[in-house]
Amino acid sequence: MKYLLVLAVVLVAFWIWRNNRVRDDTPPKPPSKRQPLPPVTMVECRHCGTHLPESEAFVGRHGSYCSDEHRRLQGD
Ligand SMILES: [Zn+2]
Repeated sequence: MKYLLVLAVVLVAFWIWRNNRVRDDTPPKPPSKRQPLPPVTMVECRHCGTHLPESEAFVGRHGSYCSDEHRRLQGD
C-alpha cells in the first residue's frame, strides 16, 4: 500500500512536470525588433585605404587615418 502511495505521488509529480513542460513549449514571443543602428559615416584611411567609422578615425590635417601610426607615416 505504501508503494502505491509513492507511485501516486510520482505520477502526480510527473503529470505536473509534464503540464509545465507543455506550457513551456508554447512558441516564445518573437524577440522585439532591435533598434536599427544609426547610420555611421565611414571614412577611408589615406595611407592603407581601410574604411572605418568616422568616430574611430584618426583625423589629420589632410584626411582621416585608421591609426595614429598611419597618420604619422603619411606625414600628416
Ligand atoms: Zn591605415
